[in-house]
Amino acid sequence: MSSTSQPLAQTKSAVLHRDLHRQTLEIVEAQGSYFTLSNGRRILDASGGAAVSCIGHGNLQVQKAIADQVVQVDYTVSLFFTNKPAEQLCRMMIDSTAGSMARVFIANSGSEATDAAAKLARQYFLELDPPQPQRIRFIARNGSYHGNTLGALSISGHKARRAIYEPMLLPNISHVSACNAYRGLAPDETDESYVERLADELDNEFQRVGPDTVCAFVAEPIVGAALGCVPASLGYLKAMRKICDKYGALLMLDEVMCGMGRTGTTHAWQQEDVVPDIQTVGKTLGGGYLPIAGVLASNKVIDVLDKGTGQFVHGQTYQAHPTVCAAALEVQRIIAADDLLANVKLMGEYLERALRNKLGDHPHVGNIRGRGLFWGLEFVYDRQAKEPFPVTLGLALAIHDEALAHEPGIMIYPGTGSADGLQGDHVILAPAYNVTKVEIDMIVQALGNAIDSALTRLV
Ligand code: PLP
Repeated sequence: MSSTSQPLAQTKSAVLHRDLHRQTLEIVEAQGSYFTLSNGRRILDASGGAAVSCIGHGNLQVQKAIADQVVQVDYTVSLFFTNKPAEQLCRMMIDSTAGSMARVFIANSGSEATDAAAKLARQYFLELDPPQPQRIRFIARNGSYHGNTLGALSISGHKARRAIYEPMLLPNISHVSACNAYRGLAPDETDESYVERLADELDNEFQRVGPDTVCAFVAEPIVGAALGCVPASLGYLKAMRKICDKYGALLMLDEVMCGMGRTGTTHAWQQEDVVPDIQTVGKTLGGGYLPIAGVLASNKVIDVLDKGTGQFVHGQTYQAHPTVCAAALEVQRIIAADDLLANVKLMGEYLERALRNKLGDHPHVGNIRGRGLFWGLEFVYDRQAKEPFPVTLGLALAIHDEALAHEPGIMIYPGTGSADGLQGDHVILAPAYNVTKVEIDMIVQALGNAIDSALTRLV
């Protein structure tokens, strides 16, 4: 730790965190772009936690919406009743798709949304006229993350998170290559031929497993936690849509991390000239105020259910919880009223420039990529060979720790694992949609210092 670092607050935790031995820090206050640790240090939240806090912390309007809703109707069981904030939120989400989507299932987390989306896809084929009950498979991608429930983890291609649970995961799911130009593009290959190659791979996978057995192809338009903000190459999602259409399968897009404005449009697919049949959202739907996620179901899917049993055979105690929906509704209203997506685009461009200026030539920063206010940096030992650091070194976590420990402290989101295996380190920046230039300058400067301190300490 350098002389500019300050000691981290140390607390013994009763909470079962991922790392039982790590000294976890206690956050005692969160306001705007900052939170305060129990040792009094203020930390600039440069990643919205796990790309969640999209309007900053402690917003009074959201707090009031939550308090008002708790007083009015705190909870209803969604099996028999609806409630105003859920209806208004879902209507707003449907309207944001210009009529492509027909209904929204409100879940408590992105993982549950993935499970619900997969069930919806299966049910669509059971209710088609004539039904296609043989469709029991999903094709997803390596280097993807769709959640940690056993269903969502089965769909995920994140090798490190799957590893010890492999024997418990669902059998009818296979994975094709991620679209990751930095690692996947062959020498002298154009984006166009790369996309063609990936389309051929998906086509072959449909053929291998039996084209009429596949419910859906699942992909994140911009891969978040598994790879660190990797946008699909131009035309990729359109090419995948074509293959799905060829075999009558659904296209399921996971926008839990990259959606609801994070990349500058409400939905990331709106920049790709495709429309999914089923879409999941999460994190930035509620901005972290209360846990919420959603599954948007297209007209195509809902029409079939409407004409079929008229039921979605799935449900959870807390789905469409009124207080939770009231919080998310207010977050989304603030994003619209303050025209925050314009700031996402503007500040996103500024952040990209600042990152490239400061770290574009860094010998161990292999790749800087992202869109809107969703940026990832991948670290390599050797830029030429793109050789990652051994994952046992813990570089991404060390950069995270240095970023917190230095002054000014910033929170970033570290990750490990590459598309093809367990090696590789990246960090994610995902500041709030109302981030300022001054804050971005601080973030980039602090990130540069953290990278150098971590490398000095470890390498
Ligand atoms: N899908 C994506 C793309 C994610 O990034 C995540 C979480 O990081 C999930 C699904 C799972 O969401 P949750 O952690 O809310 O269950």
